[in-house]
Amino acid sequence: MPVPPPFMLTTGPVTAYPAVLNAMARPAIYDGHQAFQHFYRNVIAKLQSALRLTNLPLILQGDALLGLEAAAASLIGRNDVVLNLVSGVYGKGYAGWARRHGGEVIELEVPFDEAIDPGAVRRALAARPDIAVIAVCHHDTPSGTLNPLAEIGRIAREHSAFIIADAVSSFGSLDVHPEAAHVDIFVTSAAKCLGATPGLTLLGISERAWARIRANPDAPRASFLSLLDWEHAAEIGRPFPVTPSLAEIYGLDAALDLYLQEGPERVWARHARTAAAARAGLKALGLRLWPIDEKIAAPSATVFHLPAGLTDKVLRDTLLERYGVLLSLGRGFTAGKVLRIGHMGPSAEPMLAVTAVAALGAALNQLGIRADAGAGVNAALAILDGAASNQADSRSSSREVADVDPA
Ligand SMILES: *Cc1c(COP(=O)(O)O)cnc(C)c1O
Repeated sequence: MPVPPPFMLTTGPVTAYPAVLNAMARPAIYDGHQAFQHFYRNVIAKLQSALRLTNLPLILQGDALLGLEAAAASLIGRNDVVLNLVSGVYGKGYAGWARRHGGEVIELEVPFDEAIDPGAVRRALAARPDIAVIAVCHHDTPSGTLNPLAEIGRIAREHSAFIIADAVSSFGSLDVHPEAAHVDIFVTSAAKCLGATPGLTLLGISERAWARIRANPDAPRASFLSLLDWEHAAEIGRPFPVTPSLAEIYGLDAALDLYLQEGPERVWARHARTAAAARAGLKALGLRLWPIDEKIAAPSATVFHLPAGLTDKVLRDTLLERYGVLLSLGRGFTAGKVLRIGHMGPSAEPMLAVTAVAALGAALNQLGIRADAGAGVNAALAILDGAASNQADSRSSSREVADVDPA
């Protein structure tokens, strides 16, 4: 059995919260029994509350790519014109499904360290009023960049285009919800910022999207890609479409309890502070962030350029072997160019950003790259200390350690 590293700061999967792991060991209950049906209905209600939905959410059994593919298969009709917004690896990948299920795919692409400009979306819709569906990735994780989802959603709604959003690695880390963002199919995961284990896709589907899916003759039924098969799964007394993935659902139940009890606003603030500390620390080490503007840097992943002359694997392995800190490599276009620090669920803890920065400072020096590790740690800590505003007070009263009377 491999021993997990003490500081698993990856961008997914993440170390699940201990309460999630405990919940996963609950005994199985027969899904035809009322006890299961009440439990499941309750999980759906918690998820509905977390997603701030007025209708019921849906859970598919499979990791998030299943939800993203099922969304394309169900919503997109064979003659539809689809606008695919591309600012990174996941956005780019969506074109494959859009082409398989739709008619024509138009792409609006920006460099993978930038974000989609809502004005460009508006122009694309004006140029092609026949665009029926827009696909967008909110946080393209290989880049650590956020797209302005709510603005894009508003523009889509004005043009009455439907919108499919990949919010897999953003939901739970910041204020994003399907209805507020005018998203028709909102796809997220239990295994990223909610801090549960991989294996479930969580979807918020608007009533207008349900109507379109029901009317779409190409929407799959009796299939793992079907959304329709799951539409009534939360109703007590209905047979479950397949055997429930009990352990994962137990884990999700615990993860939702944690999220709702800590309070979403507090959870988002924890993600934001952790990412801000990481960014401040990395910059003080002399490293360059991957996003061209910090305003588009995600709170759930901090992505930085490798310094010249270092490979991603050498730096990652040094961090892991010497300090027990595991970071993620880049992916697709960003592979070999970056390393990524995840701040998701349990790893969205500001002191873990300090840990990552300290380990990076030391590892860079060992690999022959001069970096001021102390400056990095201090810059990260300053974010935890509430940054500049409090600094004047603490400085005026600070003394050398040796001056402090041990009594
Ligand atoms: C992780 C991730 C996915 C895929 O999730 P899986 O659980 O690996 O299927 C999709 N989109 C984004 C943006 C992600 O970060």
